[in-house]
Amino acid sequence: MTHKIIGMEHDKKIALVAHDNKKRDLVEWAKFNRVLLAHHKLYATGTTGEILEQELGFKITKLQSGPLGGDQQIGAKIADSEIDFLIFFWDPLEPQPHDPDVKALLRMAVVWNIPIACNRSSADFMISSPLMDSNYDRLVPDCDVYRTRKITGDE
Ligand code: PGA
Repeated sequence: MTHKIIGMEHDKKIALVAHDNKKRDLVEWAKFNRVLLAHHKLYATGTTGEILEQELGFKITKLQSGPLGGDQQIGAKIADSEIDFLIFFWDPLEPQPHDPDVKALLRMAVVWNIPIACNRSSADFMISSPLMDSNYDRLVPDCDVYRTRKITGDE
């Protein structure tokens, strides 16, 4: 498959999601990095966003709670290039009612080649990258080629 480029701007569109047992981790991380996060545009699933907004004191676009469709909304925004960065502290030790949505969100992030941090150390390395404060050309699948591919009916 060929690729095209989507430009990530200096101010990134960052989605933040944490499962219940990981919310404290995410809040601590976000507070520590409050200044670095402040100039980016932040999105979050419902409960995560509510807590972060209170703790950080700035506006976050809140979607549905994860189990009610929030993960899928973030996945859709990734596919529409409305989110270009994912901090997702998912819980590896407890099954979630919306496990299929979790897998789908992680899959979308990989398909669309966006940076994903699933734990604090990854998030630390990513937030301190010089690329956070510059434009970045992200390679994504060229969907036009995929959509206009020849369909023979024998696929
Ligand atoms: P929440 O959703 O922020 O609404 O708790 C997170 C999740 O479970 O995916």
